[in-house]
Amino acid sequence: MLKKICKLCNRTYSHSYKLFGRGCFNRACERLMIDFPDNIDDKEQYFCDVIARRMGKIGISRTKKYDLAQKYLTLEYLNMIDYGDLSKEKDFIKNEMSNISLIKTAKETLDVLLDNSKLNKDNESFPNITLNKVYRLYKITEKFNKRINSLKYELKKIGYNEEFIDIVEKYLLNDLKFVFDTSKLKIPMCYKVYYAMQVVLWELVISFGKSAGFLLSAELLQKSLIANKDKEEDYYLTNQKILSEFYFNEQLTAIIKKLMKKYSSNKKNIALNEKNIDENELIIVFNKADFYYSLHKATINIEGNKNNDGRWQLKVLIKDKYDFTDPNTTKEDYKDSLLGSVLNNCGVVSQQYGVIRPYNVYIVLNYENFEVSDYEE
Ligand SMILES: [Zn+2]
Repeated sequence: MLKKICKLCNRTYSHSYKLFGRGCFNRACERLMIDFPDNIDDKEQYFCDVIARRMGKIGISRTKKYDLAQKYLTLEYLNMIDYGDLSKEKDFIKNEMSNISLIKTAKETLDVLLDNSKLNKDNESFPNITLNKVYRLYKITEKFNKRINSLKYELKKIGYNEEFIDIVEKYLLNDLKFVFDTSKLKIPMCYKVYYAMQVVLWELVISFGKSAGFLLSAELLQKSLIANKDKEEDYYLTNQKILSEFYFNEQLTAIIKKLMKKYSSNKKNIALNEKNIDENELIIVFNKADFYYSLHKATINIEGNKNNDGRWQLKVLIKDKYDFTDPNTTKEDYKDSLLGSVLNNCGVVSQQYGVIRPYNVYIVLNYENFEVSDYEE
């Protein structure tokens, strides 16, 4: 017997139905709430009749009823996808359905026989919006919902930094890795859904990241989701809580003191930047986890004047580019940390999707009475 391809799941089946294997047929009946009176010989035919009746297209040919039923179910699954704006796809299917009418085209008059080759041909003319493709996409969103909920559940239970990192790492690496699928970039319907799922995932990481103390990471990731898509923005950090973390960061204070000690002796004012000293001296790789995950290759610039008491008035600028595709981001020690490399991989994909948009980060710190003298190597 001829093997047929189920229009819903794309698997082969061999019994008499024209559209679906038995399991999928039952699933479709359940989904559309179609029951059967006793003594129905061909349930699938009856199923298509019910849908034609629902659509007010009672008199159409059998071939058209089978076609209509597939499209009707396609629209049903499109409506169940919660991610992305699929209104164009829905309009397309609705339009297709309304074009199914009593009037016969010349081509249809020739298509005397209803068989699968005819039905398959119909599908091929709209490669991106077949019942099977929409169904598969719906199943993906179902899987996403389940896993994002369990991520949310796990994150709700914890409060410590280390656990937050472990959990996010686990999900990005395994359970939710599938949303970072570059093969969907060129398929408009999938692209929109995957884009929306990535946004939901990042928003969740941001909101729990904040409560786990990853303030800068959360802030910069949040900004990347809304940054200008077409041209790189300059973003100045203004969050006072995060700025004070920089003022109290010992590593930063030490590097400023080290540079000042080296370059400021016997001087009344100072300017240290890429133009007048070796750039490598200005690079800072933070140890603090939050800064480490959010600043990939930060450099500092210093300028200031010496007060009469020997202390300094300094303006320190920390700058970085929030960009996962920047070659500078491939910094080895960053990649060596597991979450760093996982974030990096997912970030690169999200950036390809346009979910994460690159921009320039500037952090300006003003010190009134900065003491260089107590620095020791
Ligand atoms: Zn099936």
